[in-house]
Formats: sequence, C-alpha cells, structure tokens
Amino acid sequence: MKFASRLVNYDPAPGDRFRPIATPIYQTATFEQEHADSFGEYDYSRSGNPTRTVLETHLASLENGTRGFAFSSGMAAISTVTKLLQCGDEILADSDLYGGTCRLFSRVLDRTGIVARYADASDLERFEQLITSNTRLVYVESPTNPLLRVLDLRRIAAIAHAHGALLCVDNSTMSPYLQNPLDLGADIVLNSATKFLCGHHDVTAGAVVVKNEALADKIYFAQNAEGNALGPFDCYLLLRGMKTLKLRLDCQQKNAQAIARFLAGHESIKQVYYPGLRESSSYELQRSQARGPGSVLSFTTGSVAVSKAIAENAHLFRITVSFGSVNSSISLPGPMSHASVPPEVLAQRALPPDLVRISVGIEDEEDLIADLQRAIELATPQAANSAFV
Ligand code: PLP
Repeated sequence: MKFASRLVNYDPAPGDRFRPIATPIYQTATFEQEHADSFGEYDYSRSGNPTRTVLETHLASLENGTRGFAFSSGMAAISTVTKLLQCGDEILADSDLYGGTCRLFSRVLDRTGIVARYADASDLERFEQLITSNTRLVYVESPTNPLLRVLDLRRIAAIAHAHGALLCVDNSTMSPYLQNPLDLGADIVLNSATKFLCGHHDVTAGAVVVKNEALADKIYFAQNAEGNALGPFDCYLLLRGMKTLKLRLDCQQKNAQAIARFLAGHESIKQVYYPGLRESSSYELQRSQARGPGSVLSFTTGSVAVSKAIAENAHLFRITVSFGSVNSSISLPGPMSHASVPPEVLAQRALPPDLVRISVGIEDEEDLIADLQRAIELATPQAANSAFV
C-alpha cells in the first residue's frame, strides 16, 4: 500500500467483537485480572492501554520501525530517549536544535553527569572530530528548526555507527510522510506529534520509533518506569488527526512553496530559508533523502523591528509557537520558541535575531500571500520610524 492508504488502513480495534472502524477510547486506569498470581494482556494503563497500542503500532509502521511509543509530549519522548544514557556518557548534537531540547540536554542532563556538545553537523569532518569514546548518542533534526538546514542523515548515521554511537533523528519538521530516518540509517526516530502528526494544534504528544527490539525494550522500560505515556483520549485524537496527514501536508507544502517564492522575490526580505527553493544550497540533499521540503520556512528582514511588525500585522498567520497545524502561524524563534536555549549554547549558534519562522497551513494560497504582502507593507514604514530599527 502507498502512504495515503496506509494512513487509514490498519486494525483500529484488535480483538474487539463489535469491529468498530474508529479506535475505541479505553478510558480506564486499570483492568480486572482473571487470576491473582498472573497478569492478562493489559493490567494498568501506565504500562499499556489498547488505544495506545493501536497508535504505537501505527506509528511504528509509518516510520518503518520495529516498535513505536507514544508520550505525553515531544519533550517527554526526547527525555525518555536520553534514559538510554548514564553518568559519564556524552551526546553530540547538531547546533540548530529546538530550544527545549537544548534546555533538557544542557540544564537537566548536566545534573546527571551526562555531557552535551553541539556542533554544526553540516560540517561533517569537524562534527566527527568532536565524537569521543564516551559519545553514546548523536542527536540531530533535519531540516533543522528554525534555520531549515538539511543534514546528510546517511553520512551522519555512518559516522555515529563508526564510533559505536546511536543516531536519533527528530523528524518533527517532516513527519513520516516526508522522511523516514530509520531507512537512512538512524536507530531512533522521534516526532513532536504535537506538530504534523496531530495537525490541528489540539494535542500535545510525542512519538518514538526504534529500529530494533533491544532498543524497544529499553524505551518501554523507561516509559513504564517514568509514567510519561500518552493518555487514551489523546491517543484517539492523534489517530484521528493522522488519517489526513498526507492530504494536509500536500496542501501545506504547495502553499509553502508559493510563499517561499513570493518572499524570495520581495525586496523587503533579506533571506529565505527553505529547502524547497531550487536556489537553496540544501535543495539537492533534501531531494536525496526526503519526499518534499515540508511547510515550515523562515526568513530574515535585516531588522528585528520589521520582523516583529510583520508578525504582529499578519492576520491569517497567527502568532503562535509550534508548527504543523492546518492553521498558518508565525513566530520569532529568538524571543519565542528558542528563548530557552542556554546563553552559552546560543553563543555558538548563528541564529539571526530578525529571523521569522512561519508554518504554512491549508488556507487558500492567494489569501496567505495577500496577508503577508499586507503585513510586510505595513511593517516596513512603521519599522523605519521605530527607534529599535
Ligand atoms: N522537537 C522539535 C523540532 C520541536 O519544535 C518541538 C517543540 O516545538 C519539540 C521537539 C518538543 O515537542 P513538544 O512541544 O511536543 O514537547
């Protein structure tokens, strides 16, 4: 089956005698046991719940992995992956990472004796030089958030494995529809399911899919031990949202391509970061490892005040952190989604202060372009008179 068919064709309720088409919400914390000295298939929802099993099986299938795990957020998923490490181990991460991931790596894991280093993973030679005998995990996003840099996942996997480390790829900007990191050599793929998998900005969730059973057993142990799995109702909502992943993303991506072209040709826009533009240095690499450039892009204007004014004057693009919803959104990563990056990590990153990130939704292309056109026109004179330019 091809992807759109796979999205809607799976067993929604294994073993259910009523054969429902939608997955039932098993809103129960515990399950009655037949015997007092052994457990049935399910005993307690932290350890396992039928609604979650359907979601986790479906996630594993869509990412071409062995087993999947659903968490209460993307951060819970990332945190659980780090439970594969112990005191003295090191993480080598790409320098363009979601702010919350940097915060977890540098401000929480440091207390457990795990060290995180960051380097630009598009410079493979230098990146590899930073791997030490203690490096257990290489961690990257591609395309990265918010600079949309594309990393060579096949080569990074080869480098990680040559040094005995695992590769975990955060696939949130792509989703399994556009990219399958496990097929490119990664050991673990992770999604903030809050983004494209959900698609409607009404669930906070995370997904981990692993390549082999040994990793699956370790992730399951940590998920059960920490109790951060996704609840049954949110599992249901995610299953429902995922059915339209391809339809949504096809439309969002088409809109994003038109908007990227519009912005690239606009005199007030300094630079557009989007691997779907032919002139982008990432274009060929993206084509070689993904099925599309996605619908998140960012741009600079040369002025923080102009960027702020564009965000505040846009109407269809609502100022919200996060991305991947059917509604378009706009944000300034510096003061918003990436404000949690520790200053010493931020100093290594070339994050332009005037960077604007947009996530393109399913609205009509003409309306979205007209909205941005208007916002840019209003922002430019307004910003030119501002003391902050
Ligand atoms: N990974 C990326 C790339 C993100 O952008 C985010 C959140 O914005 C996360 C992970 C964390 O996911 P969540 O907000 O679902 O915890």
